[in-house]
Amino acid sequence: MVDNLLASLGVERSAYTMGSHPVHTPIDGSRIASVRLDTPADVAAKIAQARQAFDAWRAVPAPRRGELLRVFGEVLRRNKQALGELVSWEAGKITQEGLGEVQEMIDICDFAVGLSRQLYGLTIASERPGHHMRETWHPLGVVGVISAFNFPVAVWAWNTTLALVAGNAVIWKPSEKTPLAALASQALLQQAMREHGDAPQWLSQVCVGDRAAGLALVDDPRVALVSATGSTRMGREVGPRVAARFGRSILELGGNNAMILAPSADLDLAVRAILFAAVGTAGQRCTTLRRLIAHESVRDEIVARLKSAYAKVRIGHPLQGNLVGPLIDKAAYKAMQNALSQARQEGGKVHGGERRLSDEYPDAYYVSPALVEMPGQTDVVRHETFAPILYVMPYSDFAEAIRLNNEVPQGLSSCVFTTDLREAELFQSALGSDCGIANVNIGTSGAEIGGAFGGEKETGGGRESGSDAWKAYMRRQTNTVNYSRELPLAQGISFD
Ligand code: NAD
Repeated sequence: MVDNLLASLGVERSAYTMGSHPVHTPIDGSRIASVRLDTPADVAAKIAQARQAFDAWRAVPAPRRGELLRVFGEVLRRNKQALGELVSWEAGKITQEGLGEVQEMIDICDFAVGLSRQLYGLTIASERPGHHMRETWHPLGVVGVISAFNFPVAVWAWNTTLALVAGNAVIWKPSEKTPLAALASQALLQQAMREHGDAPQWLSQVCVGDRAAGLALVDDPRVALVSATGSTRMGREVGPRVAARFGRSILELGGNNAMILAPSADLDLAVRAILFAAVGTAGQRCTTLRRLIAHESVRDEIVARLKSAYAKVRIGHPLQGNLVGPLIDKAAYKAMQNALSQARQEGGKVHGGERRLSDEYPDAYYVSPALVEMPGQTDVVRHETFAPILYVMPYSDFAEAIRLNNEVPQGLSSCVFTTDLREAELFQSALGSDCGIANVNIGTSGAEIGGAFGGEKETGGGRESGSDAWKAYMRRQTNTVNYSRELPLAQGISFD
């Protein structure tokens, strides 16, 4: 099955059969491929090739660079079904989520095409007569992308489309848990490069490997920007190492996202939003809803309604019409169970969370999503556990709810469900949520590509995707031109 998908997506058979690194599907735990790992020396050689590609690509006019992304978007449209299915096999996402991820790639391609004619700089009034000033934006060089298992293709596309339109070359180090989706995405981009005709060889490359391959990108001064998506633990190592060589980084790290449920909330809407945000992708999204801060007047009702909704969620094979697929691996399952036992010790009452379908799939890890009633925001609640656990905590006044929302180390996504305009506006004001994303009457997950995506504090501070996130992939140059016959100095300084 997976072999057929890879072949149809244009991946050479040797790339997924000849290596020593096994790839397992979380669907049933079976081995689906063996890939070759790149050593740090391989990574260094690819960086040298990327640097050559950059020298050619930066001379191609930006709208022509955009044409590559237009073609890539078309190639993706033609291969959406197959790539989406491959994402399901490798990351365990349900069909809709696998397809949704490829749609995100297509959307960002469209965005990049428009952007290729809008890499605008400012014109600035000069204080000196006969002078003008302007800002121009230039490509950076080689961009390294390190990505996590849970968005095996979309995060690369967010980065790569903008980096390419900006005139950079890209090297991608995908998660060692999901190299196949990376090889397939790269094959599709290469197909687009052939159709386009002006893209230099080595413009986009993949390095398959683990932490060591990632660090080879991180430490190499020829990599101008490292965009790293993954755990806060990873970012804590990557950020300082890139900074130590004065490189640039975009860090997209862990989240611990909350919803405030106010007394005036539309509970029907809230139940649906909570379900999608808390159990979707089996709780393995950076934007997964992990904390529900419910007003004491609605807390019991929402817990009762969620318990009944959770009981109806279909768990199982992600390509067979279920709503919740497997956890990525055994380690994820263990981390979930550890968090649940810690929650019990800290006074939590746990509903659900047990292993499911272990007879049918002894080597895979399906779980029922857990709902945990907590007495307050204890230690376990402040940590991101990458599994479907939703902690429910009470609040009595809105200021307290905002304080709880903000009182965790992470700062990715947040939302409030309310029909009170004052609460909604306060939540999105400077006195409200301290997160990169703050929604009203929408859950924490499922962002659109048009907005800048990212979070504060231990989430890393990076922004990707829409709005003006493209500026992170370019360098700003301030240009002053003197078209007079004099040489006036700024600040009125005389130097005769
Ligand atoms: P992870 O940190 O284990 O791995 C992520 C990537 O970093 C992998 O490619 C891995 O090989 C690489 N890596 C790990 N340590 C490294 C190091 N020291 N140097 C260089 N590279 C290193 O994360 P994961 O388990 O794959 O993904 C889950 C985590 O990612 C969660 O914390 C989730 O919240 C986060 N995430 C964040 C976002 C976001 O946009 N903020 C998006 C997706 C996932």
